[in-house]
Amino acid sequence: MSKATHYQGLIERYRDRLPVDENTPVVSLNEGDTPLIKLQNIPAIIGKSFEMYVKFDGQNPTGSFKDRGMTMAVSKAAEKGAKAIVCASTGNTSAAAAAYAARAGMTAFVLIPEGKIPMGKLAQAIAHGAVVLQIRGNFDDGMRLVKEIAGEAPVEIVNSVNPYRLQGQKTGAFEIVEALGRAPDYHCIPVGNAGNISGYWIGYSEACGQNTASCTLCDGNCPYLENPMTDTRPIMVGYQAAGAAPFMRGAPVEKPETVATAIRIGNPQSWDLAKAAVEESSGWFDEVTDQELLDTQSMLASKEGIFCEPASAVSVCGALRDLRDGKIPEGSLITCTVTGHGLKDTATAIEGRDPVQTVDADLASVKAAILKHL
Ligand SMILES: *Cc1c(COP(=O)(O)O)cnc(C)c1O
Repeated sequence: MSKATHYQGLIERYRDRLPVDENTPVVSLNEGDTPLIKLQNIPAIIGKSFEMYVKFDGQNPTGSFKDRGMTMAVSKAAEKGAKAIVCASTGNTSAAAAAYAARAGMTAFVLIPEGKIPMGKLAQAIAHGAVVLQIRGNFDDGMRLVKEIAGEAPVEIVNSVNPYRLQGQKTGAFEIVEALGRAPDYHCIPVGNAGNISGYWIGYSEACGQNTASCTLCDGNCPYLENPMTDTRPIMVGYQAAGAAPFMRGAPVEKPETVATAIRIGNPQSWDLAKAAVEESSGWFDEVTDQELLDTQSMLASKEGIFCEPASAVSVCGALRDLRDGKIPEGSLITCTVTGHGLKDTATAIEGRDPVQTVDADLASVKAAILKHL
């Protein structure tokens, strides 16, 4: 008889490296196990020699890496007997919270900024039955309110201030180390609220048996340092959108503005943890303009077949520029988290592009239209 190999999500996959036990009701949509895709065509365009892999976390069940954290946060909420969860969101956290709450039979309350959410993400929250509260403010206002409401109502916060979120998100690093058989030289990642860069760094640190100040779960006494998978950690590089780059300004940004709505955040909640990740790894933060990130989004889609949302292109965008400038040396092995799927925000992807061509429904017209391009 053959042994079943049904993948059951990242908690089952990494149970011995996560704070769960037999009393934790696992709430999963089989998240994780996302593809690590090697760039084939872009290196020649850049004209430098390097190996770059995209960790396409947009291929999670709700289309972003938020599912990795949400399976942990909602499972731990269920373990406590919570009936409701709450989050502030630029869209993807609310989509994930709504889906996992539906799965768990809980109510999800999501606070979103007025008018700045791509339709795909809003549709997800509504479809999964979340209570959607659009606030007259931005993400940072929503985050402040969520932290206040948790003391006033029986709701569990599932933003990344919930340490279980980062525990789930660290598994992205485990998957990369396993897939490559080693840690990359550089790991590049978009930074908004700064949870994911912290989560990846926790993962890379545990994967090579080292403590990190990016983890707040066990005060420098990590229980998961046995059975290391590798012996090095990457240099962590966090990229922000120029209009929402508090790490570059050295202070919160009052009115963050960028087309990359997922990282339109001025006051990152995981500031200290992300800073620790960059410092411990001898990495850096940098920023890219909206035009640069949109160009990279387009290049990934049209040259590699990888369709991501604008915020997700920031990692590849920054990495390619640092390669061109020699800040990342040739010959490096680089991984880039590509955080969310392009289908989330189709309006931005086609804005300003050539419209579709309308042709008559006869062979001659279609043939002429095709031959024009060959
Ligand atoms: C949430 C999100 C980010 C930012 O991640 P942080 O953990 O907030 O830094 C980047 N890209 C996408 C698509 C996201 O949904």
